[in-house]
Amino acid sequence: MNDQPRIHLGSLLRSSDDAHAAGELDHLDYWQGKQRQTLRFARPAKFRVDVNSLGNDEMYLQGTFTPTLIMECARCLRDVEVPLQLKLGTLLKYDPSVDIPYLDEAESGEEILMFGDPDLDLSGYLAETSLLAAPLSVLHAPDCKGLCQVCGHDLNEGPCEHMAQVPVEEIDDELGIPEGKVHAKQNPFAALKDLDVPEE
Ligand SMILES: [Zn+2]
Ligand SMILES: [Zn+2]
Repeated sequence: MNDQPRIHLGSLLRSSDDAHAAGELDHLDYWQGKQRQTLRFARPAKFRVDVNSLGNDEMYLQGTFTPTLIMECARCLRDVEVPLQLKLGTLLKYDPSVDIPYLDEAESGEEILMFGDPDLDLSGYLAETSLLAAPLSVLHAPDCKGLCQVCGHDLNEGPCEHMAQVPVEEIDDELGIPEGKVHAKQNPFAALKDLDVPEE
């Protein structure tokens, strides 16, 4: 298990060879502004990257990353595993004055990862790419009943006393439960992006 996803680009900067790195991560530590953040994965997440020199301290990185994020169900707050299959592709530019690698926009409009240490730490890049690809909110099941607004009881485990006072049709409308998503029931993740989930 790698502690940090690093790729050594020193020789590539000198001789324009290719560089490769691969491994598994159970979490990523990264900086968000001045705050240290940790992104945890449900199981070891495989990554593989290849970097080719483009000359002038510029490179192109491509690869794959398959993390399984742990998110909260938007209605009942239980953990939901969200597997992602990410294709990586970004320009890199070496600038010795850069402290922590960060994503910028190149003149061409393309994404460019600026870095100052030839021993490039990809933590921030992989974390940001994962978070950008993740759905804004997820449901643990398409028909999740959520929590009682009064007592916080998990209504998936049965009704509470407050629930009994409200007509059933009204509850369905309120929660906006999507009907007839058969494929979503077979695979809880396949249709997550299609679901119309109210944003919290
Ligand atoms: Zn739920
Ligand atoms: Zn209740």
